[in-house]
Amino acid sequence: MSITAIKGFNDILPGEVEKWHHIEAAARDVFSRFGFSEIRVPILEKTDLFARSIGDTTDIVEKEMYSFIDKGENRITLRPEGTAGVMRAFIEHKLYALDPLSKLYYMGPMFRYERPQKGRYRQFHQIGAEVTGVANPKIDAQVLTMLSRFFTELELDEPTLEINSLGCPECRPAYRETLKEFLRLKLDALCEDCCRRFETNPLRALDCKVEGCKTATAGAPAMLEHLCTGCDTHFASTREYLELVSTRYRINNRMVRGLDYYTRTTFEMVTGLLGAQSAVAAGGRYDGLISDLGGPQVTGIGFAVGVERVALLLDAAKFSSSPDLFIVALGEQSERRAFSIACELQARGVSVEFDYDGKSMKSQMRRADKLSCSFTLIIGESELASGKAPLKEMATGVQTEVTLDTDSIANHLKS
Ligand code: ATP
Ligand code: MG
Repeated sequence: MSITAIKGFNDILPGEVEKWHHIEAAARDVFSRFGFSEIRVPILEKTDLFARSIGDTTDIVEKEMYSFIDKGENRITLRPEGTAGVMRAFIEHKLYALDPLSKLYYMGPMFRYERPQKGRYRQFHQIGAEVTGVANPKIDAQVLTMLSRFFTELELDEPTLEINSLGCPECRPAYRETLKEFLRLKLDALCEDCCRRFETNPLRALDCKVEGCKTATAGAPAMLEHLCTGCDTHFASTREYLELVSTRYRINNRMVRGLDYYTRTTFEMVTGLLGAQSAVAAGGRYDGLISDLGGPQVTGIGFAVGVERVALLLDAAKFSSSPDLFIVALGEQSERRAFSIACELQARGVSVEFDYDGKSMKSQMRRADKLSCSFTLIIGESELASGKAPLKEMATGVQTEVTLDTDSIANHLKS
């Protein structure tokens, strides 16, 4: 029996990969306009890095991590997200000493042991961005505007930006107690997970997808109504800046991100088109994370886009690429000529295909058709003799006689 890929791990095949190129190019383009540079960090990190940053009671650390003991008895984990590794690098290389204000982006695979379904895989890809060193809400608005712009450039108006504030160590503990008082009376109606998390992470009940929990928490107190003055002003100001540049958003006061390190602004880009996998991108502010990881007191904010979910929203047909030219050659001499013309045109930036096996004219034409080439050029004995050959534009059927040299062919393809 042949060997198959691991469950939840996908191949990205030609036909699909063009969408990925488009998404990645849009991210690089938009992010660089906002002053971001790329950082590439390892896929494997010490397990402690994730346990310490993401938090022991989160879904990711509790049950989703791919953790191993390596041959040197080290506890290591395939990264489940990007922020922890980027911040580890920021601290390790003392990037903050050069400038505490850094704007970094990354892209690559992440790994979580989840139940695979549409839009949810065990190896998936994120494109993320992180800003350090700016506490001012102007940066919250810039990061959110950049994320919105990225989706606009992809011509996707579907995902909607939702924002919330999760407060800070000053106001969240009191809110947590208020929420617990409320939830304590509803414990019977909450799902097993929410009951288990009641003591350690009660906020998670607010965004639980189980119907019973949704009903039970309907009238729950909201963090937004319990923010301290600092957090309240920060949130109001973030909204003001968003409105100043017409970045559209909606407030979702039940949004609770699944990672412990978030403070103040949190956000998601949500869509109704992917069922339960509604978040296409998500992020937030993490003002305590860098110091928690042993770095200086520097604030941070960032997000990660789920590339598979964005790809699901895009139409593959729009991004397929096809060759500019197919050269049909008949007879050994013509094949030799086709071979060298193809190489010369390829060197000049034209994409060219031709037949490798001396197939019949009909079969070569069929292949040209299948590849959706823009033009076909037919070379036989008489064309070799006359030095002229018919070049046909496939979409219109218009045929022109061209001189059999690369300059002349290339000029016709352009015009
Ligand atoms: P979800 O609620 O869907 O599990 P999450 O809150 O765990 O998402 P984050 O950790 O915030 O997700 O990751 C950011 C983005 O990465 C998500 O919004 C989503 O688009 C994508 N993502 C997360 N987990 C997966 C996965 N297992 N497969 C595919 N994409 C994922
Ligand atoms: Mg998740």
